[in-house]
Amino acid sequence: MTGFCPEPSDDVAEVRDWVHAFARDVIRPAGAEWDEREETPWPVIQEAAKIGLYSLDFFATQWFEESGLALPVAFEEIFWGDAGIGLSIVGTGLAAAALAANGTPDQMGEWLPQMFGTENDVKLGAFCASEPDAGSDVGAIRTRAVRDGGDWVLDGVKTWATNGGIANVHVVVASVDPSLGTRGQASFVIPPGTPGLSMGQKFRKHGIRASHTAEVVLDGVRVPGSCLLGGEEKLEARLARVRNGERAGEQAAMRTFETTRPSVAAMAVGIARAAFEYARDYAREREQFGRKIGENQAIAFLLAEMATRVDMARLLTWRAAWMARNGRQFSQAEGSMSKLVAGETAVWVTEQAIQILGGAGYTREHPVERFHRDAKIYTIFEGTSEIQRLIIGRAVTGLPVR
Ligand SMILES: Cc1cc2nc3c(=O)[nH]c(=O)nc-3n(C[C@H](O)[C@H](O)[C@H](O)COP(=O)(O)OP(=O)(O)OC[C@H]3O[C@@H](n4cnc5c(N)ncnc54)[C@H](O)[C@@H]3O)c2cc1C
Repeated sequence: MTGFCPEPSDDVAEVRDWVHAFARDVIRPAGAEWDEREETPWPVIQEAAKIGLYSLDFFATQWFEESGLALPVAFEEIFWGDAGIGLSIVGTGLAAAALAANGTPDQMGEWLPQMFGTENDVKLGAFCASEPDAGSDVGAIRTRAVRDGGDWVLDGVKTWATNGGIANVHVVVASVDPSLGTRGQASFVIPPGTPGLSMGQKFRKHGIRASHTAEVVLDGVRVPGSCLLGGEEKLEARLARVRNGERAGEQAAMRTFETTRPSVAAMAVGIARAAFEYARDYAREREQFGRKIGENQAIAFLLAEMATRVDMARLLTWRAAWMARNGRQFSQAEGSMSKLVAGETAVWVTEQAIQILGGAGYTREHPVERFHRDAKIYTIFEGTSEIQRLIIGRAVTGLPVR
């Protein structure tokens, strides 16, 4: 266990610089084009795969780095480049985290490589929890998984799934015993090409438009028992505990969100930093009334506030990532704190960046309007700001806040 140090180690800094160079040279220049196209940027993902950035090896190495800072540091750089392309590169990582949080070592060994594919044959992973009537309320999930001999058969409709329907491997949260609510849920791997899984509507979005978001329809999807994450015995033991009125431990979807929250926060920090830097550089150059606009306190103080809030969000993110990596309990919902602050910081900072650029900021001649559109999702997905406040409120009061 290492103590918390708000300074990346030399190794982490080296990876940061390497990722930053890719973000600067490849991701940032492609951002506007893929935002307009609203398509998965396969060529960029492929380039990321070629240098080893889009690979199981990269994600696993950063995940297990001892300080816990490696992943948030890398994600901040990728999303500094562009958030839509960024999510296309790291979306598989979120699905992989879902698998790793609930799967056995054998399941990880079998499915994680298939989520990423190879540098010449790139694949994606998708995590499917949300449904039309089950967003914040994951207990309302209606997708059913029913045992049939040694198999499981899944039926239902998932929505807003990042990489949904175009992924090679889908991780699906389903109810195995609806009478138990969230405690009767389990996660399943749906192997490539399984009949019955299809893509429904592809959504057109406000931001992160290079990231594919779609419905996933499960119609009599039959998978072998080995696709139940964690295995039969563990599920049966958990369900028996719940039926006996004992604690069941954390639910499948919740466990995934807890481990991924600081990483999601880091994405928002990257967008916020990109917007701050762009606005700062603009304020140093743009002249009105015979002086740089940055020489007005109104603008300089705004930039000061933006810089401060970006650092604040990053520090909360790194603390939460360090706690998660070093086995510290989130006693005050520190993971949720990081996601809440980083998401709201990204929305606020990107809006101020538009203000500092004035009319230019409102046009597509500059990236800040895109940064602002991209930032908004960070107060919505992986738990809305309201839900983060609910979780933090419950943790700090010890009361069943609703
Ligand atoms: C681009 C995008 C990508 C996504 N990717 C994925 C993915 O890969 N996998 C996946 O499973 N899901 C994904 N999602 C779904 C996302 O996690 C949900 O949209 C999110 O959890 C919110 O659910 P909802 O949209 O149904 O909103 P709702 O739950 O309907 O909430 C609507 C509003 O009501 C508020 N609200 C709800 N309940 C309460 C309460 N108890 N107290 C106070 N306020 C409340 C919310 O905060 C929100 O403001 C994605 C969504 C988007 C838009």
